Amino acid sequence: MKPLLQAMQADITKLAVDAIVNAANASLLGGGGVDGAIHRAAGPELLAECRALGGCATGEAKATRGHHLRAKYVIHTVGPVWQGRANTALSVGDREEDRLLASCYRRSLQVANDLRVVSVAFPAISTGIYGFPRKRAARIAVAEVRAVLRENHTVKQVIFCCFDSDTLRIYEELLGVH
Ligand code: ADP
Repeated sequence: MKPLLQAMQADITKLAVDAIVNAANASLLGGGGVDGAIHRAAGPELLAECRALGGCATGEAKATRGHHLRAKYVIHTVGPVWQGRANTALSVGDREEDRLLASCYRRSLQVANDLRVVSVAFPAISTGIYGFPRKRAARIAVAEVRAVLRENHTVKQVIFCCFDSDTLRIYEELLGVH
């Protein structure tokens, strides 16, 4: 079965999928944006479980249970903070950020596969507080997810969960919707 890639405008904490991905920070102890929303919706049990994980490196991913969420698991990944400038020639720094962002998607899907997860929702990792240019991040996200799912994988459905309509439009264009 060919995996289904979809874009959707939604609050990721509300989605009934096997796993949602959290754009966490390296401490895994909660923060703003989508991270804060996930911790609020999952309840204090999530923070307690995260404390035992001992943090997470940029580009890596670690799983917990979903607690009060509809999703069974939360896969916490730490995106790179954008340091580059979108309108200048590609510098070494920019490439490193691209590589680390791609790694977030790849490692999250590996963790999902290890948990035998079928459906996963991703937020637009690094595009909020971490400042990664949205279009560039979406291109990396879609390309990496497509590449990973070409291999044999338990994941058959990926939702790119967009919080705003501009991000939704970017993903729809990349996925060939409309
Ligand atoms: P980062 O620190 O990785 O940039 P943010 O949480 O600041 O993470 O933002 C990542 C993306 O998640 C942004 O596009 C933001 O609009 C989006 N976002 C924020 N809250 C939610 C939510 N409840 N559901 C889905 N996406 C969200």
